Amino acid sequence: MEDNKEANTKEQNKPEHRKRIQTLKRLIVGGVVALCLLPTILSLVALGQIHQLNTQLNQSLLILSDLSLQVQEVRRIAEESNTHEETVEMEDNASQPVEQMQQTSMEEQDPYEGMIKVCLTFDDGPSRNTDAILDILASYDLKATFFVNGHPGFEEQYRRIVEEGHTIGMHSYSHVYSDVYGDLDGFAADLDRIRSCIRETTGAESVYYRFPGGSSNTVHDMPMQECIDYLDELGITYYDWNVSAGDALGYTRTVNEIVDSTMSQIRALDADTIVILMHDAPGKETTVEALPILIEKIQAMDGMAIVPITEDVHPVHHVIKE
Ligand SMILES: [Zn+2]
Repeated sequence: MEDNKEANTKEQNKPEHRKRIQTLKRLIVGGVVALCLLPTILSLVALGQIHQLNTQLNQSLLILSDLSLQVQEVRRIAEESNTHEETVEMEDNASQPVEQMQQTSMEEQDPYEGMIKVCLTFDDGPSRNTDAILDILASYDLKATFFVNGHPGFEEQYRRIVEEGHTIGMHSYSHVYSDVYGDLDGFAADLDRIRSCIRETTGAESVYYRFPGGSSNTVHDMPMQECIDYLDELGITYYDWNVSAGDALGYTRTVNEIVDSTMSQIRALDADTIVILMHDAPGKETTVEALPILIEKIQAMDGMAIVPITEDVHPVHHVIKE
């Protein structure tokens, strides 16, 4: 009986045993297949990642080459602007003939393009006040324009104006209206005198002029256009002003009056060029005192560049009364 039972149990266990073996086989086969597939899958994933990294690397390389082009462009612009500054200095020292200077600057870009140019101009000097003004300008590293008259004994000041890189302009030799505006011969003789005075004292050839009283003055009967045409023939450009410090009035203006009046005119003006009329004649001490305040207020405004008069500065002209 016992044997029978055992035999029955064995019979019953046979299919179960076979099942287990089959399961085991499947597991082994599955394991082998998985072991074979795993590296392939991992390789595929790795390949995908390598492809992605490669794409990113290519993009980075493109950005880098773009940046390098931009750096080259910035360098080129910086070099151009340096060359321009050197040219401006040479113009100020007037060591080149006029025609050559114009040709050089035609090829170069204006470094202040798009900014409002503010020209500080000083008439009627030089005098002792010119020294103080030159010291102030040097402390701010700024260049201005001096429209000078003939003042024997102030040779050192004429020279300082030119040597320190400012623009020297002519404002007639005598500033005596009846002499300057008597007739064209008188105007021409006076112009020649101040031009020679500047040339002999400083070695510079001045190509800028400011009419005593401005081009709109009515102190004479002579047609102003005759003088303008004469200046044109000589290649001389004249500049009036569109802002006045009011320091040539019959009384001495206080520092506050000069600053307030000048700044309110500047703020009210809608122009790409601002030419401020000031005076460095004897007795204009309040102008000297007002100058640093004015400079700082102008520099605090957006888009303003304080520059000397050069051929890059559009001439400011008054409407001439006939
Ligand atoms: Zn004057």
